[in-house]
Amino acid sequence: MTQKKIVAYKPLPPDVEAYLRTHAEVVNVDPKEHAAFVAALKDADGAIGASVKITPDMLEGATRLKALSTVSVGFDNFDVDDLTRRGIVLTHTPDVLTESTADTVFALILASARRVVELAEWVKEGNWKGSIGEACFGVDVQGKTLGIVGLGRIGGAVARRAALGFRMNVLYTNRQPNEQAEQQYGAKRVPLDELLAQSDFVCLQVPLTPETRGLIGADKLRMMKASAILINASRGPTVDEAALIEALKNGTIRAAGLDVFQQEPLPADSPLLSMKNVVALPHIGSATHETRHAMNRNAAENLIGALDGTLTENIVNREVRMR
Ligand code: NAP
Repeated sequence: MTQKKIVAYKPLPPDVEAYLRTHAEVVNVDPKEHAAFVAALKDADGAIGASVKITPDMLEGATRLKALSTVSVGFDNFDVDDLTRRGIVLTHTPDVLTESTADTVFALILASARRVVELAEWVKEGNWKGSIGEACFGVDVQGKTLGIVGLGRIGGAVARRAALGFRMNVLYTNRQPNEQAEQQYGAKRVPLDELLAQSDFVCLQVPLTPETRGLIGADKLRMMKASAILINASRGPTVDEAALIEALKNGTIRAAGLDVFQQEPLPADSPLLSMKNVVALPHIGSATHETRHAMNRNAAENLIGALDGTLTENIVNREVRMR
């Protein structure tokens, strides 16, 4: 039997790459070398990577390809229907990143409410000359109302922190109820417009899909309280960024804590970079040493399991029958 070939289109930790090499030949490619990447896929059995859009035309002629493994929970970089038609299994890494990402969300909530980043810069710039006054005050987090748009795995971990740690009142919007969050954290399911009108903090944690693209636009921002803070650690395009910038400039909402953007990295001329009421992070949701390692390991195991036909979980398109 010929050895399987795997294309790795992101750097992997040495132990994870060694694990893959016990099962297959591993070819490392830089996805920025587009032609070489596409050429490598043509005779590969599987591929592993992240943060690169894989379009149908890149898979033309990749007749051996049986599995793609993304080192992420979100799979908006793939055309899932097209993969299913081609009989290619797509795997992802839910659960292992849930808690780290929920920590990032909470860091954004606290940083935005208490103006942590802005005031830390102010201190470093040598502006702290006496005891501070109202000009440095923020707003409370504890006891406030948190609205979670997309209360799934990560949203649930945010709800737990909010309800049990900060005694917050949790509202949420999902297509289906999340009974566990209702029972354990007193989360209440409400329509999106009601969530926007009532929440002091609105956290977006939906996947990016045709339905959620542009979900928060000018009309929705106007429904929020003028004192409210928007947190986005889902995907940039769930928010109309131009409308958000306007809303932050004219006081439609108080502030925003953002881990994701319409264009990443954030362009140097983005107005968001110079706005004091914006905390902008470089897409660090799951970015801890421990979690990123666990994600890489999980994705490698998913890929080998998918190629062997033994994988039972972490499969995005279950319709594809594995060999
Ligand atoms: P999940 O468990 O699938 O949760 C997603 C939630 O969104 C579900 O509760 C789902 O409920 C809800 N939802 C889906 N479509 C919706 C719609 N049209 N309207 C309202 N609610 C909708 O996923 P997760 O593991 O929590 O991850 C969520 C997303 O976070 C990922 O897809 C990814 O894009 C993002 N993420 C970002 C980072 C980062 O670095 N910033 C890290 C990890 C993940 P229903 O199906 O009932 O609607």
